[in-house]
Amino acid sequence: MKIAVCPGSFDPVTLGHLDIIERATELFDKVVVLVMSNSAKHCAFTVEERIELLKKCVHNPKIEIDTYGGLLVDYAKKKNAVSIVKGLRAVSDFDYEFQQALINKSLYPKIETVFLAARGENMFLSSSMVKEVCSLDGDISPYVPKEIVKDIYLRCKGEN
Ligand code: ADP
Repeated sequence: MKIAVCPGSFDPVTLGHLDIIERATELFDKVVVLVMSNSAKHCAFTVEERIELLKKCVHNPKIEIDTYGGLLVDYAKKKNAVSIVKGLRAVSDFDYEFQQALINKSLYPKIETVFLAARGENMFLSSSMVKEVCSLDGDISPYVPKEIVKDIYLRCKGEN
């Protein structure tokens, strides 16, 4: 069974993330969406809340949701995962993602990082953009799964 890990902060999950996760299920037998709890980013949602939001909008039985606070490659080893799947939005993502892929390969040579190109319509989409639009009272419904629109408004509306 080929297992892939899709790591990220998912603060909150967007349609851009979901597209990458769903496309990964076409390539692997199982996809673990891994909410990293060691991110340096200041998050609007706690790890538990981010997991709950993901659970509300992921319905594919090939997808599992988990969290980890250590080294990604240690999790991959533990899970017997063969790949790390990442979405690439633009050239600006590439430099950082490439460095991560190289360090992960160096730490754990058996792992392969697979980059999936973001769809054109998701190129500009990030969790931080969603939070900003929401805080300024904009319509976030084109960018996030419908199941969680309300939760995001409750947390982020009027935050500015
Ligand atoms: P963000 O960069 O929005 O804070 P994460 O750290 O949660 O997102 O990112 C997790 C993974 O999802 C990364 O590989 C990132 O490149 C990818 N990703 C994020 N937003 C998109 C998008 N709009 N389209 C495709 N991939 C994306």
